[in-house]
Amino acid sequence: MAATLQISDLVAGYGAGAVLHDLSMTFEESCATALLGANGAGKTTLLRAISGLIPRRGQLLLHGEQISSLPAEKIAARGVAHAPQGRGTFAHQTVEDNLRIGAYLRRDKAGVEEDIQRWYQQFPILSNRRRQKAGNLSGGEQQMLALARAMMSRPSLLLLDEPSLGLAPKIVDEIFEVLGEILRTTKTTVLLVEQNADRALKLADYVYVLEVGSITTEGSPDLVMDSEKLRAAYLGAQ
Ligand code: ATP
Repeated sequence: MAATLQISDLVAGYGAGAVLHDLSMTFEESCATALLGANGAGKTTLLRAISGLIPRRGQLLLHGEQISSLPAEKIAARGVAHAPQGRGTFAHQTVEDNLRIGAYLRRDKAGVEEDIQRWYQQFPILSNRRRQKAGNLSGGEQQMLALARAMMSRPSLLLLDEPSLGLAPKIVDEIFEVLGEILRTTKTTVLLVEQNADRALKLADYVYVLEVGSITTEGSPDLVMDSEKLRAAYLGAQ
């Protein structure tokens, strides 16, 4: 199996102190990887380091090519889409404009129009609200838009930062169903940061646990399910 992204000895942070210490991780093509960790462990920082939003050093090989010194827009152009925590849609733009912005690097106009229709089919509520400003959508609708917008670039690597945060269970079901479909029907590699560990582990092929900036556990999701300590930490007492 080919790796979409291979990370070695990654160090990253904000200014003086490093938040991430010598991380090594592999993200296999077409697989979903869940990243678990307590608040402040560095999960968001890792997504920012991958997508070029903060300074970092070490190796970040995207399809075998070093991207650790590239700026965010070049990394996006190489197929990385980042749906940040808090959704990051453009509040003053319409739903449809947000989808087009997601595709701004694409030159295949017909393909872009097709994809917009595809996402309207996937999330009919977005189609109903296509002329509304994104800022007027509900939290669930904004999350759907954030996911659809990220997918409009046809990414090879999709970074999702807590897509279920603050959403009703029914909406979370819908988001996770769509993620499952993305994994089944496209070659997208997914890196998912989730507080909702239970759902993330059901979707994921592989899991990393990050504690204070270092990976302490990695393996199949069963590894977390079968460990009393990890279940207590990340799945609640069940
Ligand atoms: P959460 O689940 O709370 O989002 P996280 O695992 O995503 O947690 P990060 O947001 O990556 O954690 O934060 C890791 C560390 O980096 C924390 O100690 C945090 O205070 C610090 N940090 C985050 N953002 C910044 C910033 N912009 N400037 C300085 N320090 C930051």
